[in-house]
Amino acid sequence: MNAEILAVGSELLLGQITNTNAKFISSQLSELGINVFYHTVVGDNAKRLEQAIEVAESRADLIIFSGGLGPTKDDLTKETIARHVGVQLKMDEVALTYIEQFFAKRGRSMTDNNRKQALVLAGSEVLANHHGMAPGMIFKKDQHTYILLPGPPKELEPMFQFEAKPKLAAMLNDGGTIASHVMRFYGIGEAELEVRVQAILDAQTNPTVAPLASDGEVTLRVTAKAPTEQQAHQLIDAKVAEIQALVGDYQYGVNDDSLASKTVEMLLDNELTIAAAESLTAGLFQSELAEIPGVGNALIGGVVTYTADAKVKQLGIAQKLIDTHGVVSSECAAAMASAVREKFATNIGIGLTGEAGPTAHDHQPVGTVWIGIAINDEKPLTYLLHLSGMRNTNRLRAVKFACHYLMQQLEERGYKKRY
Ligand code: ATP
Repeated sequence: MNAEILAVGSELLLGQITNTNAKFISSQLSELGINVFYHTVVGDNAKRLEQAIEVAESRADLIIFSGGLGPTKDDLTKETIARHVGVQLKMDEVALTYIEQFFAKRGRSMTDNNRKQALVLAGSEVLANHHGMAPGMIFKKDQHTYILLPGPPKELEPMFQFEAKPKLAAMLNDGGTIASHVMRFYGIGEAELEVRVQAILDAQTNPTVAPLASDGEVTLRVTAKAPTEQQAHQLIDAKVAEIQALVGDYQYGVNDDSLASKTVEMLLDNELTIAAAESLTAGLFQSELAEIPGVGNALIGGVVTYTADAKVKQLGIAQKLIDTHGVVSSECAAAMASAVREKFATNIGIGLTGEAGPTAHDHQPVGTVWIGIAINDEKPLTYLLHLSGMRNTNRLRAVKFACHYLMQQLEERGYKKRY
């Protein structure tokens, strides 16, 4: 099955809103192993919408519409589709009752055009809208399947995920199951990862393996189809093991994990405490960890020491060290990590210092970052990064690398990590 996403709305063409619905639907379809070959955007114009439908029908089996299901005159998606496929619109009593109750509960009177929202294509399967008024629809004719979804993402996303997606999965697999599993990697570029797993990517059938890179991370989504969930997971497990044999060293987590969440999990599991001294990241490392509930048992505190003077006064770093090596140096990162570990009496101290850009200050190229990691009473370790992004991308990458290297070091020391 291949799909086209057809987003309807003049606001999209005018640049007033971004087509996030297409992005969302595409990522959901890739989980089902459905190829999306085209994203189309068309304004609120019946003639152009009908032309777009004809084009989509010529190249896709599944056409997913977003928007234009509302009560106003310019909401014309279902009317246009009804005319195009030659069916009537009929009142859906369940949707109408829901809309009537919606107005009654709020003590507001309902207008005729609100009733229009409960009209659906005759013969379609209605998708309930639990976050708004307009119901969605799945309609099949000849070799095409049409799915109509409301425009607001807070309505479209749950409707797709909980109403449409399970039905699509069942259609694809004749009652079988599709399962997917995401492997998350850090410290390896997309190109290198792809080269290393090239043979697997070339030979994929079931499970399929789809790479995706974003924010310096790379993921591989492994999707399997099978008669039962258990069989789908067996297929996935075997493929995951093959991939791990090739690039397992770079895998930090799965599914919804993040580098910060895995770091916090590992600290908590091993009853380790941490503190950070941050220069270029100015608290971002601590902030990322603090997003994870329960971190209070691991993150004890930290300091932002942005200037050289603050590093000397707050952390007691020797002025001589800074004069000799500079603040963007292995020596300074190591000293920051040790000093903050001692200051907060933690197991681990992290030091982050570097040139975030856009201009260099400490005679180092922009993007130079040193990460110091002090674990227990050991001599601190340091890592050098040469980052090439914009200022804030570099700051976030520095934090992610700090998490990545810390987890690697803890694992090497035998601290347990969940997989
Ligand atoms: P409504 O009942 O709210 O009118 P609708 O199904 O008619 O819903 P539209 O009128 O097309 O949808 O869009 C409503 C709002 O939904 C837009 O103002 C916009 O905020 C959001 N929206 C619409 N299409 C998209 C899209 N493709 N991506 C992201 N947001 C969108």
